[in-house]
Amino acid sequence: MKPNLRIGIDFDNTIASYDELIHRVALERNLIDAGEAPNKRTVRDRIRQRENGEVEWQMLQGIVYGPRMGEALPIHGVREFFNRCRKSGAQTFIVSHKTEYANFDPTQTPLRKAALAWMETKGFFLADGLDLSRADVYFEATRQEKIGRIQQLGCTHFVDDLEEVFREDGFPEPTMKVLFAPQPPPSPLAGLAVASTWDEVARLVFDART
Ligand SMILES: [Mg+2]
Repeated sequence: MKPNLRIGIDFDNTIASYDELIHRVALERNLIDAGEAPNKRTVRDRIRQRENGEVEWQMLQGIVYGPRMGEALPIHGVREFFNRCRKSGAQTFIVSHKTEYANFDPTQTPLRKAALAWMETKGFFLADGLDLSRADVYFEATRQEKIGRIQQLGCTHFVDDLEEVFREDGFPEPTMKVLFAPQPPPSPLAGLAVASTWDEVARLVFDART
């Protein structure tokens, strides 16, 4: 008998993509040149090279995760993944490390509400959309609390774009670690499954099972 799948998924940069939005806001604020690639890491590195760059970078993040959240885009293939989970009877949870407010957001936009509003607009909670329940979306204030939630939910898999989450002390041993990395790291942590697209995540979760 197949074990029941309980798939936990990170939110920022795993479900929601900010690459183009970060690039756009960085251009508006004259932090980068027009020729810079619309890639989060490239833009971050450019900004950090500037005087006061770390603060500028944090302000930019406060803006894109807060007042401009609505312009973020679902990552290609993520909808199809949720649909496949639903058809297969796999349970899905969103577990996000997200504080109530950003450090440097003058508008003091509630970040969790912004994320939920985004999910709502994108049809995450509609029966004919992704049919997810709001009760299956968890926001945690610290990385340790996120790990605790993954444990408490008994996730068989967890998908995250941040390798540090899987390195964290207490990450549950039985949970399969799936790193979502459009640009896979040269030497990922031992025991990590790496997927560069949501198609690959689906293959790892549904097809590579023994
Ligand atoms: Mg993330």
